Amino acid sequence: MSVTPFGSQVDSPNSVKSELLPPLLGASVTELTAWVQQQGQPSYRGKQLHDWIYNQGARSLADISVFPKNWRSQVADIPIGRSSLHYRSVAPDDTVKYLLKLADGEIVETVGIPSDKRLTVCVSTQVGCPMACDFCATGKGGYKRNLTRGEIVDQVLTVQEDFQERVSNVVFMGMGEPLLNTENVILAIKSINQDVGIGARSLTLSTVGIPSRIRQLAAHQLQITLAVSLHAPNQALREQLIPSAKPYPIEDLLAECREYVEITGRRVTFEYILLAEVNDLPEHALELSKRLRGFQSHVNLIPYNPIQEVDYKRPNRDRIEAFVNVLQQQNTAVSVRYSRGLEADAACGQLRTTGNW
Ligand code: SAH
Repeated sequence: MSVTPFGSQVDSPNSVKSELLPPLLGASVTELTAWVQQQGQPSYRGKQLHDWIYNQGARSLADISVFPKNWRSQVADIPIGRSSLHYRSVAPDDTVKYLLKLADGEIVETVGIPSDKRLTVCVSTQVGCPMACDFCATGKGGYKRNLTRGEIVDQVLTVQEDFQERVSNVVFMGMGEPLLNTENVILAIKSINQDVGIGARSLTLSTVGIPSRIRQLAAHQLQITLAVSLHAPNQALREQLIPSAKPYPIEDLLAECREYVEITGRRVTFEYILLAEVNDLPEHALELSKRLRGFQSHVNLIPYNPIQEVDYKRPNRDRIEAFVNVLQQQNTAVSVRYSRGLEADAACGQLRTTGNW
């Protein structure tokens, strides 16, 4: 398989194909039913298999006690597709970071973020990331490969089982650029929605923007939230922070976001990392507001979380408030995301495959 980051062609909505089974994780009840029938079993075993994979935490077909013993022993080696836990660390704010080992030995990071009424999982979509954003730890570690749909769904089940609590929200904000792996990400979204049972509106996909992919995503008419990592109010500053943005002018990115709003009826969130003295001046806020005027959107400010390789600074509260005030005066909807999990190196942008463990 090719490992080029700009990988596979993205299919049109009606031609998204499922992967060949097994591994079984990520498959719908229809696919699982077809598979058990292929194995010479009655069709109702498909529903049972679906229930054991998604609700009962089966890690091997041998665990499924409702299946006949002789069939269980025949299929015991066929993988369901669950990862194994490589490392787990808990931050003082109860955020849990997991390093999960995949079938080929690669490691990905997942974060579980509990709050009063929610349990949010931050999932990875690639091993590493090729986008090389200057402020992001994952980007400094290079890129290995795309994750399969099952490897994405596995992260949600892992956190759900560990917390022994239903996951309420999933954010595609872990390692990797989801729109470089659109086909598997869309299949994973469908499985998280229909098989794990989490509402599409509780799923958020975050992208730095890849030419024409937001338009292609819109065509799927998913009711998920789209978050776009804008990080700068103009092309020159954006390119400085995100070198991969060079061939994709900010005007083109925003035009695709406008189409997304028109096609899906969902407003877009713009993420904006705040780097002291770099992109956090009041004039940046004013320029940002002007650019987003008349746009059904919301700005989510993310104060920079420190990483080792670069010496950006997180702005202090006064600077953050000043930035927020300008946006509010201009009637731009805004919120600030104070990252959780900082002490476990599990906050936005701090995920990497090589590190201190
Ligand atoms: N590739 C996707 C998802 C990546 S991470 C994307 O770029 O959107 C999710 C968010 O964390 C992105 O907005 C990313 O820019 C941001 N981020 C990366 N490094 C960060 C850091 N050191 N501090 C704060 N946010 C960071």
